[in-house]
Amino acid sequence: MIKVGAYDLELKIIRKKIKNLYLRLENHTLIVTCPYFITDQAIRAFIMAKEKWIVFEMAKKSISYTHIQDAKIWLLGKAYEVSYDIDIKEAKWHNEVLNLPGNDEESALKSFYLFALPDLKEEVEKALVDFLPLLKEYGYNDIPKVKYRYLKRAWGICHFRKNYLVLNLKLLHFPPKVIRAVLWHECVHFLCPSHNKAFYNLLYWHMPDYDEAINMLK
Ligand SMILES: [Zn+2]
Repeated sequence: MIKVGAYDLELKIIRKKIKNLYLRLENHTLIVTCPYFITDQAIRAFIMAKEKWIVFEMAKKSISYTHIQDAKIWLLGKAYEVSYDIDIKEAKWHNEVLNLPGNDEESALKSFYLFALPDLKEEVEKALVDFLPLLKEYGYNDIPKVKYRYLKRAWGICHFRKNYLVLNLKLLHFPPKVIRAVLWHECVHFLCPSHNKAFYNLLYWHMPDYDEAINMLK
């Protein structure tokens, strides 16, 4: 196993009488073809040099975090087993299984968002502890209000004049670093309302792995 970005991948090394290293990705397996006399360390360095590409490819083909698939639901980037139950009114744990009301995905997801909202809020609070001092450094002294909605076309919206931002409830399916990235993007809008150079400079300066996190939303 090798960790690349947020992905744990199987690693298969094929040694051959060749001069260069090659890399390909099959499902969750990284396949490196390389010459006989090359150290594991060099292979690792080779993989890490391709990290961006790997993460991007994985994100493209990755599981759909926002849906219930194979009786699994994603909460903060971790998969949990779910089962539908038409006799209950709200989501609840039963042993290790999350029971969701209704018998279709749509109604189950609705109650899941209510159920899991405190987890999302907690991640946001934690991130704001880091972000607010940064905003202050750049001259934004307020404490923005964060609202949560089910959004169809955006992961976050910043109402910079009204001092609040909206986060898409669907973010609660994703790992904390993705939530942080979206939140940071919206927070930077309090300093730079438009997506100009200054905006991206600030964004990346304090979150160099922003793209890697955001790619998981694509
Ligand atoms: Zn934006």
